[in-house]
Amino acid sequence: MKKTKDFLRARVEEDLASGKYEEIITRFPPEPNGFPHIGHAKSIYINFGIAHDYNGRCNLRMDDTNPTTEDPIYVEALKDAVTWLGYRWDGEVRYTSDYFERLYDYAVELIRMGKAYVDSVDEETMRLNRGTVTEAGKRSQYAERSIEENLDLFARMKAGEFSDGEHVLRARIDMAAANMKMRDPLLYRIRNVAHYRAGDAWHIYPMYDFAHCLSDYIEGVTHSICTLEFENNREVYDWVIDTLGLEPPRPYQHEFARLNINYTVMSKRKLLELVNTHNVSGWDDPRLPTIAGLRRRGYTPGSIRNFCEQIGVSKANSTVDVSQLEFAIRDDLNPRAPRVMCVLDPLKVTITNYEGTEEIEASYYPHDVPMEGSRKLPFSREIYIDRADFSEHPPKGYFRLTPDQPVRLKHAYIITCDEVIKDAEGTIVEIKAHYHPDSRSGSDTSGIRVKSAIQWVEATSAKPVEVRLYDRLYAAEAPQGMEDLNPDSLRIIPEALIEPAVITEQPDERYQFEREGYFYRDPVDSTDAKSVFNRIVTLKDSWGKKQKAPAQPSKPQPKKEQIDGEVVPMNAEEQARFDRYTDAMGLGSEVANTLARDEKLASFFDAALVGTDTSTGLATIVANIVANDVARQIKLSEGDALPFTPTHIAQLARMVDAETISSKIAKEVFEIMATEGGDPEQIVAEKGWRQISDPAEIAPIIDEVIAANPDNLAKYQAGNTRLMGFFVGQVLKATGGKANPKIVNQLVAEKLE
Ligand code: ATP
Ligand code: MG
Repeated sequence: MKKTKDFLRARVEEDLASGKYEEIITRFPPEPNGFPHIGHAKSIYINFGIAHDYNGRCNLRMDDTNPTTEDPIYVEALKDAVTWLGYRWDGEVRYTSDYFERLYDYAVELIRMGKAYVDSVDEETMRLNRGTVTEAGKRSQYAERSIEENLDLFARMKAGEFSDGEHVLRARIDMAAANMKMRDPLLYRIRNVAHYRAGDAWHIYPMYDFAHCLSDYIEGVTHSICTLEFENNREVYDWVIDTLGLEPPRPYQHEFARLNINYTVMSKRKLLELVNTHNVSGWDDPRLPTIAGLRRRGYTPGSIRNFCEQIGVSKANSTVDVSQLEFAIRDDLNPRAPRVMCVLDPLKVTITNYEGTEEIEASYYPHDVPMEGSRKLPFSREIYIDRADFSEHPPKGYFRLTPDQPVRLKHAYIITCDEVIKDAEGTIVEIKAHYHPDSRSGSDTSGIRVKSAIQWVEATSAKPVEVRLYDRLYAAEAPQGMEDLNPDSLRIIPEALIEPAVITEQPDERYQFEREGYFYRDPVDSTDAKSVFNRIVTLKDSWGKKQKAPAQPSKPQPKKEQIDGEVVPMNAEEQARFDRYTDAMGLGSEVANTLARDEKLASFFDAALVGTDTSTGLATIVANIVANDVARQIKLSEGDALPFTPTHIAQLARMVDAETISSKIAKEVFEIMATEGGDPEQIVAEKGWRQISDPAEIAPIIDEVIAANPDNLAKYQAGNTRLMGFFVGQVLKATGGKANPKIVNQLVAEKLE
């Protein structure tokens, strides 16, 4: 990915060009006092990213100078997070505690130079002596101790002769400095506690201002990158290194703005509080912004890196909208997550005129996704649909099943409701319906118009799974405390029903459950007997609208979220188009958004669909061609007439829908239509591009591919079932993309069994 050159990279380049450093060394220096969060991911991304970009190195250093809060569990969590995000630190993990001896020697050196002294005033006096921003401070009476006395006291502090707080070691800088940090900052304090690594060897521990710069120096760090709140500490950082007269090359500190995200808290201390009060299930609770939580929820490392790239590096503090993080994971999963069906709130439907059983081959991916693969959907007279997909007394604009309105079962048939069965309390317990045998998806000749397609599962083959739906952990945009927690942040559905292939084939770990969102199999609570699925994110960002609407009553609110991250509201006409495209035609919000907002494209699209059933998959195919290929062509033509008509595009789409050609070949046909013009059917006939669907023709090609790849065959037979995709891909390649992927999938599966 192309990186924009931020001010940090500009500085690094300058320093390399001037010969200040030969090699760039950065570090990520967390304190192991909690699990890392998405803010740390930003720091990791910056530090490791810069080292990588300039062929340098990045250290992972545990900044473990506070024995009371640190723990090896957190060290492991930090290592895990860096590794999972895809980075390797240079050499071994480093620890500030490993430098304690050297840091002590540096402190002794400062005392010998008269640049540090042991102070013994109580905390309150020390605070008063420091002065205020407008008033100079007053140096402590103990600052007059001799070097010998200071050395003696400091050694005895180290040996454990004093209790906590009795003495401190301070730098002798300037009690009148404008920068309050420079008013004789603390270098060491007494803490009579054992350290998780150093054991009870120490009774004094170095302060951040002393330990950090010297640890950087010891490691040869060149660019010490930290967040803005350390801006005033920079002067101390430089003072320590300069005063000790350390040999160059020496490190310099550079600050950037820390990451803040709305509706969340971003400090280990606050996160720890949530864990300790059991408001969340642990550090890896999927609602937390911890790396462990995001990972368990189903976020991918790539999506988090992309998020960090998108938010950029700046020097101005700001708050990022949480929807930007959600956008990053949708963007990552949309082109590759298998689409499957899961019914969250099952309602039984008996199809009274259906006899026997069948298996429907259904692609895991929609047409606009460059992935291949399919599964079999069992079908019988008993199925389950979602309770929300039936309405006995539908509100206006309800497009799903009603007593008067048929609906399509996704990938399968159109059904019509005949009877609604209720229990004694009046709750609907079953629907009796009939199906239309000639309406099967892909070969629908029924002529019945439906307004949407809904998900379903077959009753006997469906598998029960637990589904966990997450909402924001906090209800307030800028949470102040526990009182702002969102009481509905977790909804558990103990028994949803999922189509069997997800459990038996496990084509992936992350799925799109049709119309419900992206889901991830929970790695902690799933068992062989029952899978648990976490909703990573919904398909559209409906949250912001839902919550923000009342706050801005003056602005007209679009009825529905248009597209993730979209800000410009649609005008009434565009909105009407958008609604028609999404509701009546079932188009995805992204493509509907593109079309609805562009008058020219929209009229081209509408013209192409004249006289066709817009509720079927055909509309989606036409929409994708128009929104991508035609749109590009319109731009290129700069106002000239196009060499093809809407009717031609409809013909092209129909061939894809009827599986006469694959979507890959359709792209090539379009290229010819765009350059030479012409009738797609004729082009396909002339080029001999008709899709090969005859198994007798495909089978020998599969045999060849299998014979040519014995290693992968062995791996497949040893259990690596994902290699199925490899074989399918090879066969498609061997036929120049002409083989029907569905048939290839089916045949390859049979041959490999
Ligand atoms: P917290 O307040 O969450 O404990 P911290 O700054 O104390 O955070 P450290 O473990 O000391 O956490 O941080 C390690 C590195 O990560 C530091 O360089 C720090 O500046 C950086 N970092 C911490 N939080 C953020 C954030 N929200 N955005 C960017 N960088 C951060
Ligand atoms: Mg901290």
